[in-house]
Amino acid sequence: MRIMPNRMDRGFYKYQKEFEDKALKVLRSGWYVLGEEVDCFEKEFASFVGTDYCVGLASGLDALWIAFRVLGIGTGDEVIVQGNTYIASVMGITINGATPVFVEPDEYNNIDVLEIEKKITGRTKAILAVHLYGQASNMEPIVEIAKKYNLKLVEDCAQSHGACFREKMTGSFGDIGCFSFYPSKNMGAFGDGGAIVTNDENLAQQVRIFRNYGSEKRYYNKVVGTNSRLDELQAGLLRVRLKHLEELNQEREKICGIYIKQIENEALELPKVREGATTVWHQFVIHSKRREELIKYLNEKEIGTIIHYPIPPHLSEAYGYLGLGKGSLPITEKYADEVLSIPLYNGMTAEEQEYVIEKINRF
Ligand SMILES: *Cc1c(COP(=O)(O)O)cnc(C)c1O
Repeated sequence: MRIMPNRMDRGFYKYQKEFEDKALKVLRSGWYVLGEEVDCFEKEFASFVGTDYCVGLASGLDALWIAFRVLGIGTGDEVIVQGNTYIASVMGITINGATPVFVEPDEYNNIDVLEIEKKITGRTKAILAVHLYGQASNMEPIVEIAKKYNLKLVEDCAQSHGACFREKMTGSFGDIGCFSFYPSKNMGAFGDGGAIVTNDENLAQQVRIFRNYGSEKRYYNKVVGTNSRLDELQAGLLRVRLKHLEELNQEREKICGIYIKQIENEALELPKVREGATTVWHQFVIHSKRREELIKYLNEKEIGTIIHYPIPPHLSEAYGYLGLGKGSLPITEKYADEVLSIPLYNGMTAEEQEYVIEKINRF
């Protein structure tokens, strides 16, 4: 049996008729950018997250950098972020000229809250909390620290659609929550898409203007903005996905529950979920000191895996200018050498999963 790490086609076929009907409706409507579908999607998604406003954008990266832009964070400012995140989190900070200050992760692969205060300086302006692999970060202390030092709080929810910390949805804790709808995310579009959510009417309005060349009224430009609009087709298809999101996340929960119960091998460590937090299992990430061997073995059994992520941002060529060499974030670097995402997707069959479990247990 051949098993791929992800199968986005399965997510489509599960609701094929609904997706196709919606796509045809938008194509036939004659209106393709910023219209009724985007308006409805923004209302529905804000209500899902539990915030007052949502503004649809063209990608998750746009959501991040535009969030920092409207919060007034740029050159000379520092933003605290975990070292083991996807590089887009960091680019959202540096596109604006601000400096990322990396904090090591805890055993749940999210920012170690005990390390945050040590990294706060007079230039610190914000914390970017990433809910990595779908699990909510330890939000109670993060919110407290942000308050204590008067810092802005931004959340990177690109992997955490629907995940909660003490019953409160990720994206609703900070000044702004940033989402990606890249096809492989839990709530994926059929192309690129993103959004910010917020309770601040003024921030929402600023993002709304910024995404459309800085204009509120056509041809009257208030600020130098950008073009980052969620299109009608993606918004319409996302409304379909949103309707089924709870069900999709429950299916992932079921699959991962079986992984946790049935994978038994001393060569690897299974993921843990923090008390008070939930995960929507964007990835099922194991840690293994024998990772390269395990990848090779699974490949031979035709089981695909992915490393999220092999090179931490501070060691990437792009951030060489920060001057943080190897050894500067030992836990982050250790994780980069040990993490491995095993196959997980909506529509994964019991047969497929049994095959993966059997092979891993025999490693
Ligand atoms: C996917 C992702 C992003 C970027 O989203 P895009 O829509 O691809 O721009 C940002 N942060 C994290 C943690 C992500 O996983």
